[in-house]
Amino acid sequence: MKFRLEKDITLFQKKLQHWYAQHQRDLPWRREPTLYKTVVSEFMLQQTQVETVLPYFHRWISVFPGFEALANAKEEVVIKNWEGLGYYSRARNLHRVARKLANNETIPSRAEEWEHYPGIGPYTAAAISSISFHYPAAVLDGNVIRVLSRLTADATLFKDKNSAIRKLAPLAKKLLEVKNPGKHNQAMMEIGATVCTRSKPSCTVCPVHSFCSTGKRGDMDQFPRFKVKPAQHLKINRVWIQRNGALLLHKASPKAKRLADFYELPSAEGFVKNPMRKDRLMIKKRGISNQYIEERIYRVESDAKILRLVRSSPDLHWIPAAKMDAIILSGPHRRWIKEIIVDVGHSPQ
Ligand code: SF4
Repeated sequence: MKFRLEKDITLFQKKLQHWYAQHQRDLPWRREPTLYKTVVSEFMLQQTQVETVLPYFHRWISVFPGFEALANAKEEVVIKNWEGLGYYSRARNLHRVARKLANNETIPSRAEEWEHYPGIGPYTAAAISSISFHYPAAVLDGNVIRVLSRLTADATLFKDKNSAIRKLAPLAKKLLEVKNPGKHNQAMMEIGATVCTRSKPSCTVCPVHSFCSTGKRGDMDQFPRFKVKPAQHLKINRVWIQRNGALLLHKASPKAKRLADFYELPSAEGFVKNPMRKDRLMIKKRGISNQYIEERIYRVESDAKILRLVRSSPDLHWIPAAKMDAIILSGPHRRWIKEIIVDVGHSPQ
């Protein structure tokens, strides 16, 4: 037997659109939308919540008001304006997209064409082409995966997000309102972000409740089902070494996969074998995906051995306190350095 959803797609689309017209959030990229605002917002929203993105989006648009301004900017200026938002490859790719578009005679309108641009996968390509060009491509991100798997009570134990996308893509395509794909896609994402939330979904006010298998049964929080990856626990010791008003920082290689050209507090390796508890300035814990990372920062006195090590290591740099704001620091490290200076009272000044 087919789900009611598949038998009455037109009504599903109508209910969704009616709800979206009344309840969509007032977001800056939806006000007087342009292709540029859509592309920037889609890059920023990859892996990041709307609330976090908002101040960055406003600042970005005032610094780089369009593709041309972005294409003409130096990479270090682009990265500096992304600082704190994380996943910096997005900023580099967005910069490349602007440069590629600047060299094009025509702007692509189909999702398949957008997929040839740096950092643009099927989801972002579908979002950009449907919102800006009414191209009929259905989006499938984490929010839409959750909505579709709950609507249909899809009990598949997905290996990962990509396997869920492969399974649910035909349904997403079937439900797409082809005459209005941009609005439809935004409505699907909006319902996942604001109504069909990961925990405590608001089924009683959900516009598509009458189509939803799990919403009626009450077991929606069991969907979607993903295989749990084993947790990884990592411990990293870092050092705080200051000298003559400057702090020692490590700069990642421009070819590094993660955080290319970024400064961070150096890892303790090579500086101190067994850091002493009395020298510990702070412990920071954070989780990224299935990794739990504990970083301990130890104060180490600079001595002749350390000075020799710094002189022979091109990726170690003494950064004067006054220049700290001008360099590109990874987000957590900038916060920790400020905390150590303000709370612990260790200023390189
Ligand atoms: Fe999600 Fe509940 Fe709506 Fe179903 S009824 S789509 S579970 S919010």
